[in-house]
Amino acid sequence: MHDLVRLVGIARSAAESDLLAKKRRVEYRTLPTRKWLNRCHSKRVPFDWSINPYRGCEYGCKYCYARFTHEFMERPDPALFEREIYAKDWDESGFRQELNSVRAGQIIGIGTATDPYQPAEKKFRRTRRLLEALRPLTGTSLFVTTKSDLVSRDVDVLSALGESNEIRVTLTVTTMDRDLARLIEPFAPRPDLRMQAVAELARAGVAVGVIANPVLPLITDSEENLECVARAAKAAGADQFGASVVFLQPTAQRVFFPFLAEKFPQHLQRYRRTFSESPYLRGSYPERIRTMVGEIRLRAGIPARDMERAHLPLPPGSQMQLF
Ligand code: SF4
Repeated sequence: MHDLVRLVGIARSAAESDLLAKKRRVEYRTLPTRKWLNRCHSKRVPFDWSINPYRGCEYGCKYCYARFTHEFMERPDPALFEREIYAKDWDESGFRQELNSVRAGQIIGIGTATDPYQPAEKKFRRTRRLLEALRPLTGTSLFVTTKSDLVSRDVDVLSALGESNEIRVTLTVTTMDRDLARLIEPFAPRPDLRMQAVAELARAGVAVGVIANPVLPLITDSEENLECVARAAKAAGADQFGASVVFLQPTAQRVFFPFLAEKFPQHLQRYRRTFSESPYLRGSYPERIRTMVGEIRLRAGIPARDMERAHLPLPPGSQMQLF
């Protein structure tokens, strides 16, 4: 039980949230939300605003960097991130008021922390509603990132938004190998289903790209693996491809290292050594991956993502690496 008197802010909202639905593995709850639009000031983030309709993500990717966001709700067990999913309370008129702060030329990222098309979306349709509410915007850039083929359900509203804004959807596909994907992203849609969604969006004229993020050293970083994703993306109609290396914050390490111990024990010590001082990799390894991805793009005939061309700086504390 939570001590409600002690809890404040979002932790208190989470503790007071109502149960919406329950499955064998996952509980869905409401989350009272004052603001849907978050202003991004960091130079590392290529957005002016971000929107995440859900807290937590049922897909349970072993490397997920967003697990720490549950800590703000005093849910320190990183496994709860994929078992307690919070759908933010939707208030359309309040959201429309928030949109008054958005200016033409600004960039809004949707799904910057958690997946906006995770299974909860089928039931609660928060992402669909917010996309519909964005219709009055003109001259903005809207970027949606997901691992879910459910995004193709919203092809109508995405196309409509594209009439007066720039709209781009990015599907994340780390590997085309179904078995490997099932291991590292156990509850996410199969890679071929994600590529089908790419094809559907492309056919409808929605700009769509693919990223193979995060590249996992010794697991998904072979040229063969990344080229396979790039070629499948190109064949599906994606017009951009990118891939950058994993970073592992301590909360993510608490899930990823036990996963390695179980499934890839031969790599555990190397990962531990490499990420003991910093969650970020810098130096020859990411440089080598960047070069390899550039060559793959050339061979597959698919350009880089706009964001990669912008060369976002690495955060402080980045380290030399062992891989
Ligand atoms: S889909 Fe994204 S947010 Fe969801 S678990 Fe995977 S990495 Fe995390």
